[in-house]
Amino acid sequence: MKYRDVARGCLIRANAMLPSNSEEVLRYAALELRQCLECLIYERAWCYKSVLSNDDLKEWQPSRLIKRLLEIAPYADRGVRLTMASKEDENDIIMDETERVLSRKELSKHYHKIGSYLHASFNNDLEPIALNTTSVNKTLERLSILLDEVINSPISKLVPKAGLFTFDCKKCGERIGCDPDYTVSKFNLHCSNSKCSASYEITFDAVNHQLSYRPDKVSATCANKGCLNPVSIWQRDINHGFKFNCDLCNRENVVAYSISLFD
Ligand SMILES: [Zn+2]
Ligand SMILES: [Zn+2]
Repeated sequence: MKYRDVARGCLIRANAMLPSNSEEVLRYAALELRQCLECLIYERAWCYKSVLSNDDLKEWQPSRLIKRLLEIAPYADRGVRLTMASKEDENDIIMDETERVLSRKELSKHYHKIGSYLHASFNNDLEPIALNTTSVNKTLERLSILLDEVINSPISKLVPKAGLFTFDCKKCGERIGCDPDYTVSKFNLHCSNSKCSASYEITFDAVNHQLSYRPDKVSATCANKGCLNPVSIWQRDINHGFKFNCDLCNRENVVAYSISLFD
């Protein structure tokens, strides 16, 4: 079974119920559209399966999954334009289509909104509130048009593979991969192992067309006055209470916030 087929089925069933004056029917339509949105996000993630870790794939919440996906592939929520010209005459355009992809903005705008229709709600006096069927119909119909555009995009599942950049995490050894946005010269990338705190600054050198990575670490010295060994701490470990042992004197150090007088 393919995600797009499931999404299409959800949309057809939802459209058959819309518009409706019945709250119950609208809730079922919202449920179908929510599953449709989920399928389209999972399908997008599937296109980038080679750069997503097992940890990433455990994330079922669409908003978190797309957030992670965009960290790895910053243009994953934008459609690719495909233009083909005749071999004999480059001005003879045979095909010029742009893929319609669901963007992160569109997902967050609609996902939680329709999710709220699936729950009972009440006012300040704990009295149940009925769904405003006029406004729900409007929202669901708008979403249905958007999903129809995505599902029936003239081209789909186009993922540029050429830019894949991978390296092993310096902290945990996990393979980290990304499909960089070459229009951005610098961006941050977290390790794909959710239990690892390492992060990296990825730099794109446009002149030499080269990518490089630098561990996102902060330099400090051991707090033992008799040691003062230089240490480097992962940026994401800089939290009140984080402990580590100095390599030289083996004393335990703790990261703590402090307030000092300014003068
Ligand atoms: Zn790691
Ligand atoms: Zn030390």
